[in-house]
Amino acid sequence: MKFLSRVENQTLVAILLSVTGALLWPSLFLSLSIFGDLFLRLLKMVVAPLIFTSVFVSLVRIRNFRVLERLGWRTMAYYLGTTGLSVLTGLLLVNLLHPSAPLLHGKPPALHPFSLRDLLLGLFPENIVQSFARTEVIPIIFLALVLGISVLRVGHRAEPLSRFFEALNEALLILTRGIIRFTPLGVFFLVGAIIAREGLSPLRGLLGYVGTVTLGLFLHVAVTLPLLLYLFARTQPGAYFLSVREAPLLAFSTASSSATLPVTLEVAEEKAGISPEVAGFVLPLGSTINMDGTALYEAVAAMFIAHSYGLKLDLLQQILVFITAVLASVGAAGIPSAGLVTMTLVLQSVGLPLEGLGLILAVDRFLDMLRTSVNVWGDLVGAKIIDSWLRKEG
Ligand code: ASP
Repeated sequence: MKFLSRVENQTLVAILLSVTGALLWPSLFLSLSIFGDLFLRLLKMVVAPLIFTSVFVSLVRIRNFRVLERLGWRTMAYYLGTTGLSVLTGLLLVNLLHPSAPLLHGKPPALHPFSLRDLLLGLFPENIVQSFARTEVIPIIFLALVLGISVLRVGHRAEPLSRFFEALNEALLILTRGIIRFTPLGVFFLVGAIIAREGLSPLRGLLGYVGTVTLGLFLHVAVTLPLLLYLFARTQPGAYFLSVREAPLLAFSTASSSATLPVTLEVAEEKAGISPEVAGFVLPLGSTINMDGTALYEAVAAMFIAHSYGLKLDLLQQILVFITAVLASVGAAGIPSAGLVTMTLVLQSVGLPLEGLGLILAVDRFLDMLRTSVNVWGDLVGAKIIDSWLRKEG
């Protein structure tokens, strides 16, 4: 258990205590549920600004508009494409395996019906302040992207703005880490309230959920990405994995793509022979926006929560889950539990209640470690493919 941090250990203890406590004194845990809600509120508080700054900052860090032109578009297209494939894998599995933890007593929430018009209009902010106020993730990402590109175009005169948001991003990351320290307490009250209301059946259902996410991640890591690596870069996936393995392993133990980045860069340049120009652009960008594992997990988790409320999402609603899961993973920072924070957006987009998060919190630490190593492996595969494209061009 040495690879687990203090917060992780405390979370495990919190789960055990809350499950036992809630079985013994259910009414006490029900009356304390406000503390779980407080934790959710704190998570929600940082989502909108953090998504904005993390996307904006990863763009302006490029510093140079020419690099964006040469490498940027195809990197973005590649990242979005592979993240999409990953979510698709997750959605196919979840439809096939249908994991759920029946919340017998929960009142089923009313899902938002899907509307193409709303989706298209929803891509663009009508009013920036309103988008922030309502935590509308898609328009926030759109604004971060276009503003980031504009800042690159302006050049050095816009540097104060970049520095301002870089500083804000750092401060928000510290704030988020601070909130995440409260995870053991949050878990204690949220899990306790659920067990007090529903008994042990939700926990049993979690096995199916963990199994589905794990299987999906495995397929993406061991089938989809190796296939792409072979097709686009003519590289032997097994040998490539062995040469860069330190980075995904470190990602597993830190649950943070950003904390792993120095090692990811090192193995890419030193062991895999990727050119420093490509590694220096593709990997830092990837560590904040390319999160295949996170996206798959968010989609499966949203579907699992819907199933647990006894709801079935139709095809169009699942398309909405697909889109928001991809974007929520783009907006997630590369720190532990960031995916859990942006999960709120996927749930909100289809109208699922945030309390559903209480259900999956109990196993989130473990899945965080898994999905983070998938994220980092995805970045390394991307770097290799983009490097080989550029080499072919000469
Ligand atoms: N911990 C993940 C990462 O750093 C993000 C997540 O929570 O899914 O890549």
